[in-house]
Amino acid sequence: MSWENNVRKVVPYTPGEQPKVKDIVKLNTNENPYPPSPRVAEALKSLDVNRMRLYPDPKIEDLVHAIATVYGRKDEEVFVGIGSDDVLAMLFMTFFNSNKPILFPDITYSFYDVWAEMLRIPYVTQPLDENFHIRVQDYKKENGGIVFPNPNAPTGSVLAQEAIEEIVKANPDSIVIVDEAYVDFGAESALPLIDKYDNVIVTQTFSKSRSMAGLRVGYAFAAPKTIKYLNDVKYSFNSYTMNYPGIVLGTAEVYDTENFRKNCAKIMDTRAKAAVRFREMGFTLEDSFSNFLFVTHEKVPAKKIFDYLRENHIFVRWFNKPRIDRYLRVTIGTDEEMEKLFAALTKLLETEA
Ligand SMILES: *Cc1c(COP(=O)(O)O)cnc(C)c1O
Repeated sequence: MSWENNVRKVVPYTPGEQPKVKDIVKLNTNENPYPPSPRVAEALKSLDVNRMRLYPDPKIEDLVHAIATVYGRKDEEVFVGIGSDDVLAMLFMTFFNSNKPILFPDITYSFYDVWAEMLRIPYVTQPLDENFHIRVQDYKKENGGIVFPNPNAPTGSVLAQEAIEEIVKANPDSIVIVDEAYVDFGAESALPLIDKYDNVIVTQTFSKSRSMAGLRVGYAFAAPKTIKYLNDVKYSFNSYTMNYPGIVLGTAEVYDTENFRKNCAKIMDTRAKAAVRFREMGFTLEDSFSNFLFVTHEKVPAKKIFDYLRENHIFVRWFNKPRIDRYLRVTIGTDEEMEKLFAALTKLLETEA
């Protein structure tokens, strides 16, 4: 016997590398290459160090209200957490408590199975079709809950609104979580569904479209009753999730919809140009509705490209996993960063072809 028999043993999620070296082109963790709203810098100057003596607002009211206002919802329909990872973990804990397995795609955000394992929630993954699209009928089986990103990660493909509604409607006894981490890059939000269904939850984040991965803000929309259950669990776990600077800076960002829309538009424009370039170079890819492209080359193995780029200080993401180990996920950077990427790829392909 040892105390180690009683440890909750988990295989942790592996986030993308955050290299310490300077002068790299970082296209590996879907961060936004453009800065957040200038209002954030102003709000930063307004922070009062003396205010830090006090606990922050446990209800995060200012930020909840800002999000509700900007999205035309009621405050009772909004939940805020420390990045959407925190929100999603809280959702799993609150709503996935049946003995039936929860369902999510086989190729998807690789945190879902980690949370399920950690919280001992049974799960069964549902294979995407050969073009990496979700098959609606897979989510009409008996289940203890459903979660999928829309657009999906790391594929970038979207599920139509009607299909999402069909899944929500077919599962009145389960919570369906739509993880919209990338929705602002050209997809349609499932948010309106919360008016019709209290079993759907839509999560979004400041980390991608709003250029604030470092601040850690994520949020969820759902019917007031659903949000109430979520808050009850949150207050039973940690009342003060968001710190005072986070609340102030996050609130400043939310109200500037113009800045983030402009940045998303730039990224979508760069994405369209990059897709053309990739195809010209012999890569295959599906249309992406996110801030990354999921690409595979007809001749050169993904791992080889990954290593070569890394040696040249260009970081992209390669997943050593079944079905997708021939692919690279490339975050859309600035036009200049993408030029550096394509210059390096051109060089590599010259020697390989
Ligand atoms: C990035 C990402 C998240 C989490 O982002 P946070 O930084 O924790 O807000 C959640 N889901 C998907 C699919 C993501 O790609």
